[in-house]
Amino acid sequence: MKFDVTINTPQGLYKQTKASIVNVVSPDGQRGILPNHMPIVVSLTVSKMTMDEEERETYAISGGVLYFRNNRCTILVPAIENVRDIDLERAEKARERAEERLRQVNDEHIDMVRAQVSLQRAINRISIKNGR
Ligand code: ATP
Repeated sequence: MKFDVTINTPQGLYKQTKASIVNVVSPDGQRGILPNHMPIVVSLTVSKMTMDEEERETYAISGGVLYFRNNRCTILVPAIENVRDIDLERAEKARERAEERLRQVNDEHIDMVRAQVSLQRAINRISIKNGR
């Protein structure tokens, strides 16, 4: 059995699909959402998400929220890429930029939290693209 999944980003609809399981990571750990799951809201970390659609698909997500009710799953994410669409070189450059900013700890103009989150997004993309 499959349920409906809608994925939205600030740019609009990313994907509408059907899945038999959605695997996500919340601050409490891994969660698998199966058909007929009870109504739930799950906060998502910068992490990997997999979904069994026609085949198992793997995505990098940069946080967000998952909402499930009546066999409808809605996922809101700031950014998402299918592993196939991840540009490794771009992510490596983003990682370098973030690491460089984090080295400038004494520069009050640098927003360290923003640099850390940016680094997390880059590392997440790199590790997912490398199959981890
Ligand atoms: P960058 O500094 O390279 O833009 P970022 O982490 O600041 O990285 P985001 O703000 O998370 O980028 O994403 C902006 C848009 O670019 C989103 O649509 C996201 O899916 C896409 N994107 C970001 N990095 C990559 C990447 N390495 N490969 C493919 N798409 C990416």
